[in-house]
Amino acid sequence: MRPTPPSPRAVLGDIPAYVPKPPRPPATGTSHRLYLNENPYPPLPSALARISWAAAQTNLYPGIFPERLTDAVARKLDVPLEHVLTGPGSVGIYQQIGQAMLSPGDEVVYAWPSFEAFPIVVRMAGAVPVEVPLSDETHDLEAMAAALTPRTTMVLLCEPNNPTGTAVGAAELKRFLDRVPSHVLVVLDEAYFEFSRSPDAPDGVELHRDRPNLVVLRTFSKAYGLAGLRVGYGVAHPEIAAALRKCAVPCGVSRIAEEAALAALDAEDELFEQVERVIGERERLRAALGEQGWVLPPSETNFLWLPLGERSVPVAAELERGGLLVRCFPGTGLRITVGSPAANDQLIAALAGLTSAR
Ligand code: PMP
Repeated sequence: MRPTPPSPRAVLGDIPAYVPKPPRPPATGTSHRLYLNENPYPPLPSALARISWAAAQTNLYPGIFPERLTDAVARKLDVPLEHVLTGPGSVGIYQQIGQAMLSPGDEVVYAWPSFEAFPIVVRMAGAVPVEVPLSDETHDLEAMAAALTPRTTMVLLCEPNNPTGTAVGAAELKRFLDRVPSHVLVVLDEAYFEFSRSPDAPDGVELHRDRPNLVVLRTFSKAYGLAGLRVGYGVAHPEIAAALRKCAVPCGVSRIAEEAALAALDAEDELFEQVERVIGERERLRAALGEQGWVLPPSETNFLWLPLGERSVPVAAELERGGLLVRCFPGTGLRITVGSPAANDQLIAALAGLTSAR
């Protein structure tokens, strides 16, 4: 008999893979990646110049932590240095949160559908997911508060929410945070913060100043266009930040990623002009699809949500055939990244042809 390999931890058994199967581009013709909420603009020349400068030092380890970047983020946000941590993307920081803050049997409350990393982080730790359905595609903070029990140790909140693009107002969020007991850690994921134009949008960094149980996560992957380099940051009470640093992969942010992120911070004006263009395209897309009869919630992100229920799979397949690769949540909806103007034009034309699916 052939020997079998050792067994992984039992909790890993039914944990879903992050993205089960990426959409497949058609064999011929161009296709557009509209399934990962990437920035449609290529990196700025200033970032590329610093990337190549850093690449020339690839024989050297980066710092255990990217100190210059951490310092630059602290200065940008006007928070003390000890409150800031950086990591290999916000998903890297989620893993640190799971390791540092969750024990088997802890209950973790989060909305569903929301960021797909949530159930993975929770179940990986042997903790218990408590999923609260969205209401009108938005966080139902009343129901989430009602779901807290004495066993709850963490709340995960993605605001604006992935995959629906919706957001709650600052006052509503504050009321919710005030109801969460101080021993419960609230992780507020603001990956799409820069795309929000609601005058009432919460600012997690401001909220964290007098809430020691709030961790805010942001990323260089979306508005800053550096998804390929894996760099994100968190802002937290210094004791929480210190605990999370203990669980970091040493040297987890490469020198290339650090330099590119520093260059991006220096070029915020230019990058935020691109964000304005993405927001303009988002609103153009939403208006055009609305005119065609598609029902879609407002978005505060760089993607749109089409809640198509059972029609999601056939519509995604049809779009895929035409080279429009979108993220399908079977039985629920489609998440479609705002792409280049050309990709968006193609999407408008393709959806106009799918009259029976509306
Ligand atoms: N949080 C949310 C809500 C996201 O949608 C994503 C990316 N899809 C991430 C975090 C991951 O960001 P990063 O690239 O920084 O790991």
